[in-house]
Amino acid sequence: MRIAIIGTGYVGLVSGVCLSEFGHDVVCIDKAASKIARLNNGDVPIYEPGLEEMIARNVLAGRLHFTMDLAGPVADADVVFIAVGTPSRKSDGHADLSYVYSATREVAEALRGFTVLVTKSTVPVGTGDQLERIIGEANPDADVAVVSNPEFLREGAAIADFMAPDRVVVGSNDDRAKAVMAEVYAPLDSEKHPVVFTSRRTAELTKYAANAFLALKLAYINEIADLCEEVGANVQDVSLGMGLDSRIGRKFLNAGPGYGGSCFPKDTLALVKTAQDHSRPIRLIETIVGINETRKRAMARKVERAIGGDVRGKTIGILGLTFKPDTDDVRESPALSIVQALLDKGALLQAYDPEGMEAARELMPEIDYRDDAEAVARGADALVIITEWDEFRSLDFPRLKGLMNEPVLVDLRNIYSPAHVAEHGFLYESVGRSDRY
Ligand code: NAD
Repeated sequence: MRIAIIGTGYVGLVSGVCLSEFGHDVVCIDKAASKIARLNNGDVPIYEPGLEEMIARNVLAGRLHFTMDLAGPVADADVVFIAVGTPSRKSDGHADLSYVYSATREVAEALRGFTVLVTKSTVPVGTGDQLERIIGEANPDADVAVVSNPEFLREGAAIADFMAPDRVVVGSNDDRAKAVMAEVYAPLDSEKHPVVFTSRRTAELTKYAANAFLALKLAYINEIADLCEEVGANVQDVSLGMGLDSRIGRKFLNAGPGYGGSCFPKDTLALVKTAQDHSRPIRLIETIVGINETRKRAMARKVERAIGGDVRGKTIGILGLTFKPDTDDVRESPALSIVQALLDKGALLQAYDPEGMEAARELMPEIDYRDDAEAVARGADALVIITEWDEFRSLDFPRLKGLMNEPVLVDLRNIYSPAHVAEHGFLYESVGRSDRY
């Protein structure tokens, strides 16, 4: 199949590369000249484990191309995927569809022959209808079927998620389009990786329903963690005791500083807005949006308590800035809110992240960026683990203690056992683990 992908971000690039790995001929298109130039030089603009090798292999095989030209590849394509951003609209929290609409207008004029236009971007229910209208206005003769095929990959594990998904959801009522989409995903073993065909609106809503449910699980365990701290219980044991119940499952039950990233915050908010617009408000999700927002800043107060009061003039070392490990993405990372709250309280911040510092520098210029955990510990009054990168799981405590002003560790990801850290003479704070009883 000949496939064009519009947008070479975390989703578009991974989808394009994996579809070429399936054996399709893929052209990845982006407006950002710097991204396309880097990709054509064999350089990968995002950090995603395994991506560089897969790109090199498929470029060499002649199945994968990168360009800024949209018209040519779209005219030749059997399938066009739209994978541009759908951030929260600043004014009201709705999904900002301006990038999707503008890409669709460009596509409309370039279409030749029967083409399936797929929204891979996360878009609110009913967006497919809007895209049909836009194409109908711009190019009434176009022979096109608009399909929803939301993406469920996780950054940091994106390749495995795309190549071996729990499921693929395809929303369309058009038989020709369904046959084309079945061919796109034909290389997947349908026993292990089922393709679920639904109506377009159902597919669009499924993505939001899934993300909001995962966010709900996280918000729930975070609230249980807060209660654990008050009543003298251990949230990790509560999670285990709950999660081993197969009806509940162990995933997304790790208490932490609040969910972040480029999806959960904006998708929960967009679902809330859609539901309100249809006079069917989803109060459950409205509530967790608020809970999560206040939680991130509350983590700064945890740091304050750990060092015994005011952080003004104190040096706080931050380990991890990305919203999760194995990515360079800092969009909506809890670190942004925690850092801002600590700065507001007058703290001096020094930080290290294995992959996220380039992006973090733009958003958090006030931080003194360092080269590793030891450099962050030097002269610090407390260390705060915000992201659970593997390299923070084996910190050299005796060495860090020697470098720090005060041996205080605030572990917002519960990666250490309190006893182990205390053995090294550290004052240790984590999330939802109280040893009062
Ligand atoms: P991103 O910001 O990393 O990438 C978007 C890309 O689209 C950018 O490179 C931008 O230059 C390009 N672009 C915008 N308008 C364009 C146009 N008209 N023509 C060509 N290129 C254009 O975004 P992302 O994180 O990949 O997310 C894309 C979509 O996928 C969003 O809707 C998001 O909600 C959804 N999604 C993201 C993830 C994730 O983990 N990041 C997971 C599932 C779904």
